[in-house]
Amino acid sequence: MAQLLFKDVNKVYPNGYHAVHDFNMEIGDGEFICLVGDSGCGKSTTLRMIAGLEDITAGEFYIDGKLANNMSSRDRGIAMVFQSYALYPHLTVYENLAFGLTLEGIDADVIEEKVQATAKILGLTEYLERFPRQLSGGQCQRVAVGRALIRKVNIFLMDEPLSNLDAKQRVTMRSEIKQIHRSVGATTIYVTHDQTEAMTMSDRIVVMKSGGYVQQIGTPHELYFYPKNLFVAGFIGEPPMNFIRGKVQDGKMTSYGLSLDLKPVVKDLSAIEGREVVFAFRPESVKVGKQKGAYSITSNVELTELLGDTTNVYATVGDGENSVNVILKVSPHDTPETGSSFTFSVPNVSAYVFDAETENVIENDIVRR
Ligand code: ADP
Repeated sequence: MAQLLFKDVNKVYPNGYHAVHDFNMEIGDGEFICLVGDSGCGKSTTLRMIAGLEDITAGEFYIDGKLANNMSSRDRGIAMVFQSYALYPHLTVYENLAFGLTLEGIDADVIEEKVQATAKILGLTEYLERFPRQLSGGQCQRVAVGRALIRKVNIFLMDEPLSNLDAKQRVTMRSEIKQIHRSVGATTIYVTHDQTEAMTMSDRIVVMKSGGYVQQIGTPHELYFYPKNLFVAGFIGEPPMNFIRGKVQDGKMTSYGLSLDLKPVVKDLSAIEGREVVFAFRPESVKVGKQKGAYSITSNVELTELLGDTTNVYATVGDGENSVNVILKVSPHDTPETGSSFTFSVPNVSAYVFDAETENVIENDIVRR
């Protein structure tokens, strides 16, 4: 296991592109961390700096208290798993697993023991004599994880390891990787663009935005319930959070025919008087009809999608040109008719207000669960 510390770490590529800005973080022994964000936001670059595959342009990076900026990859005690599996096609599963150990000159008996033990953890025992082309995508990915696992390293780095798998295999591998992490205990940094993967696997998540800017670092619970800004609020959660923009007048946000009293969700109303704000709520937080202690909003139903356990309602608030789209999750028993008028409530504890200009959340005292 290992502790990692980043102090103002920056990456500027030789062509001048500044891919990571002031990355600051302390990662504890055995933590499972996901770096999440849209394509090109600097996740892989950060991972590659940890691996020693990219130079750190400025700042300091420590492994177990030792400055590691210039430490060779070999000395970092890492193993990396890539999206492409990177298996040797002409070698069997056994030989793929054994490859690194053979190179290190380890005794055949010891290798045999380690390969068998690793294969057992990953459910690959009966496939050891097969070649990669005779395996499914999920099995190939397991071999790739096995090759990293067999080396008994302190730090596991994974770059989009599940993105070549189908939806069902992804769900299975997600829990397998978590189980492996639990039994092996290596500090793990996992890169993904998929917020569901990040939410389900991580101890903590780092949300990054294009340009290589860290937006927020927190537990899945913190990011879901206490997003610091509009970017994080919109990135975490599926379907995404609803945003309704408007101007504050006399403590109320008015737009799209709404007049929402912001007093229950804003600590200091005078600070936002006259400003543009964004009223926000998650699709799954709404209740059907008018409720007490909640914002009641009437919408027009454009489309409904029955998913089985819930229905997604795509609706508009306001009239014609002056309207905004919202998505609401309701019980299938409450599915409204397309074209009908639908009144729903957003409980005060589920409502957020963001400053439209700074995009930061506006302070409140709400305890969210
Ligand atoms: P992500 O993993 O989040 O998709 P990357 O870390 O791969 O993003 O890339 C971040 C940004 O850096 C992208 O805009 C990418 O085009 C750029 N980039 C990556 N590698 C290089 C390179 N060798 N030279 C210049 N720019 C690069």
